[in-house]
Amino acid sequence: MTDTVTNWAGNITYSAKELHRPHSLDALAALVAASGKVRVLGSGHSFNTIADPGDDGVLLSLTALPAAVDVDTAARTVRVAGGVRYAELARRVHERGLALPNMASLPHISVAGSVATGTHGSGVTNGSLASVVREVELITADGSPLTIGRGDGRFDGAVTSLGALGVVTALTLDLEPAYEVAQHVFTEVPLAGLDFGAVAASAYSVSLFTDWAEPGFRHVWLKRRTDQPLPGFPWGTPATRAMHPVPGMPAVNCTEQFGVPGPWHERLPHFRAEFTPSSGAELQSEYLLPREHALAALHALDAVRGTVAPVLQICEVRTVAADAQWLSPAYGRDSVALHFTWVADTAAVLPVVRRVEEALDPFDPRPHWGKVFTMDPAVVRARFPRLADFRALADELDPAGTFRNAFVGEVLGG
Ligand SMILES: Cc1cc2nc3c(=O)[nH]c(=O)nc-3n(C[C@H](O)[C@H](O)[C@H](O)COP(=O)(O)OP(=O)(O)OC[C@H]3O[C@@H](n4cnc5c(N)ncnc54)[C@H](O)[C@@H]3O)c2cc1C
Repeated sequence: MTDTVTNWAGNITYSAKELHRPHSLDALAALVAASGKVRVLGSGHSFNTIADPGDDGVLLSLTALPAAVDVDTAARTVRVAGGVRYAELARRVHERGLALPNMASLPHISVAGSVATGTHGSGVTNGSLASVVREVELITADGSPLTIGRGDGRFDGAVTSLGALGVVTALTLDLEPAYEVAQHVFTEVPLAGLDFGAVAASAYSVSLFTDWAEPGFRHVWLKRRTDQPLPGFPWGTPATRAMHPVPGMPAVNCTEQFGVPGPWHERLPHFRAEFTPSSGAELQSEYLLPREHALAALHALDAVRGTVAPVLQICEVRTVAADAQWLSPAYGRDSVALHFTWVADTAAVLPVVRRVEEALDPFDPRPHWGKVFTMDPAVVRARFPRLADFRALADELDPAGTFRNAFVGEVLGG
């Protein structure tokens, strides 16, 4: 059998000759033990070769395995199979009166694939999606199972792991009581005089959107927990029509706005679970930098907006709380995340990505592992202070490099 397997955006065709979908954990373990190179494909929403095993490698999907979602209401935890997507996880958790603290902009992404790259939502006190993981279950290179939980000295390397330690077959996550969120959109927030800290902290989760055609934000989305006070927002004008993050796209795909309260999982993502968010005709890049540099970094981007705007669909600015995962782009520092949805034209976009990286360089940016970046691997390595610890852990758990593809090998160096 030969499959042509591409990522969601279609800019990457994985070089493996087929996609293996084992039906049992035993079959999965046997396949891994018999293979020289293995990578797992989650939902394929990354924009680079992070999941590509290379020509001789095995590309695995967990979609034929049982999609377990086991909620423990007393312990307020959920054990979820690695291939499950957030939309399904959130629905099942909510049915039991519980919730996750945060979600990414779309719920269509797999849990294991998301936490592997440090995927995040927004909120000055909200960590990345990996920060609620309490236990990881892996199949390692020799086919044997390994569980690493909080308290194990290896845990801080084991969640945001770029898929380099083994196949993540299940994760256990902390939950909290279910809550409601109301989404309010404000328009035309200028960059001049922006009090970034106050705007970012004005609700539970805040996203600022600009196309950099003008020096300011076209719209700002506030996701307010209804158990927290209604924020004052003196910096913009309430939107009079429903918005999509990308100007001109139909808002029908987006979660309910105008302050209508609803369940957490139907407001925290920008996109509704039942819609495909867009055609996939885009590329994305994102950089996380210390939050205290947010305003200076925004002005640095404003200085290059003439270069950026022609290939940009939308830029989204969010905040992420510091976490302890060694390879997390938010490791050890409360961060601002500067995201770019580009047009789907790699040749036109890459020089602009380089220009953006130059503009942000003084602010110590770390790239999002699942998106497009051009930084020199040595520079990337220097920006993750625990990278050597991660490399030692990968060497310990995977001495033959079964899970180390070209992308991971370049990042880890050595
Ligand atoms: C439209 C869109 C919106 C997005 N919004 C956000 C956002 O709001 N915030 C954000 O931070 N990012 C966002 N992203 C990026 C996305 O969250 C990440 O790329 C994420 O890693 C995608 O998850 P996935 O399951 O598709 O992973 P894949 O792209 O399939 O894989 C990512 C990595 O995880 C590994 N992996 C996957 N499953 C396993 C497993 N079971 N065991 C071991 N390794 C595994 C893969 O080998 C690979 O290294 C967005 C992407 C798109 C396309």
